Amino acid sequence: MQIETELKKAIQNEQLSLFYQPKVDLHTERIIGMEALLRWEHPDLGSISPVEFIPVAEETGQIVSIGEWVLLQACQQNKKWQEQGLPSLCVSVNVSVLQFQHGQFLETVQIAIKESQLDPKFLELEITESIMQNFKESNEILKGLRQLGIKTSVDDFGTGYSSLTVLQKLPIDTIKIDKSFVDELEKEGHNFMVKTIIDLSHNLELNVVAEGIETDRQMKILKDNSCMIGQGYLFSKPVAADELEVLLREEVSR
Ligand code: C2E
Ligand code: MG
Ligand code: MG
Ligand code: MG
Repeated sequence: MQIETELKKAIQNEQLSLFYQPKVDLHTERIIGMEALLRWEHPDLGSISPVEFIPVAEETGQIVSIGEWVLLQACQQNKKWQEQGLPSLCVSVNVSVLQFQHGQFLETVQIAIKESQLDPKFLELEITESIMQNFKESNEILKGLRQLGIKTSVDDFGTGYSSLTVLQKLPIDTIKIDKSFVDELEKEGHNFMVKTIIDLSHNLELNVVAEGIETDRQMKILKDNSCMIGQGYLFSKPVAADELEVLLREEVSR
């Protein structure tokens, strides 16, 4: 209840911000995109994790207005970087299933694109497997997004209930291997989930991204199994917009 009350004030009082985590090409280790991750800095309670407040925002419906803010903010920031002459990269935005199925989702995305003037090809939306439980509705929204030229990925893949039939039918671009499977790579003989997901992605002609890479060994196994893109503390933690800008400038001079 406290989170709900405080969350109402959070947007107005500018306590919310977006951090960005680079996505890298595992072979060159160059930044090829970034994921926007929401941060909440409360004046008394300190920083509150999205793992704690997103579920509350979903329960109360506040996720819809928060999600709108996140989308616009991420698009505007990305456009700003491009206007500064930094490399034109795709920004990925997490979308809650509640926001996705809210009814006005496509309009919300269109507004963010229009207001920010960002070329839609530089926006990707990360959704979770739970959208598959509502195939017809989700399929329509995904088709609409594709028509707009916006990319989509399935986040935390392997942790939810994916039907392979549904996965094959939906117009999505990328699968993100959940961190829990990447963690397993450290253990001998435990890489079959990662291998299976990579093979599945390739067979379905989808891109595949590994999340939560922390060690060189994990990176090596991923590369050996033809996973080309990854994110994780090994490369960079999520950082504030001005810090990401520094990283992007380094890319330019590399
Ligand atoms: P996610 O989208 O799967 O994001 C990945 C999470 O893993 C992020 O946590 C990121 O900081 C963390 N991470 C990345 N690399 C590593 C690593 O190498 N090691 C470890 N230990 N962690 C790593 P974060 O930022 O706390 O976000 C947690 C979740 O909250 C996200 O998972 C996403 O589901 C949700 N979330 C964050 N921002 C938003 C948002 O704007 N909207 C919505 N709907 N959900 C969001
Ligand atoms: Mg994500
Ligand atoms: Mg994830
Ligand atoms: Mg996650």
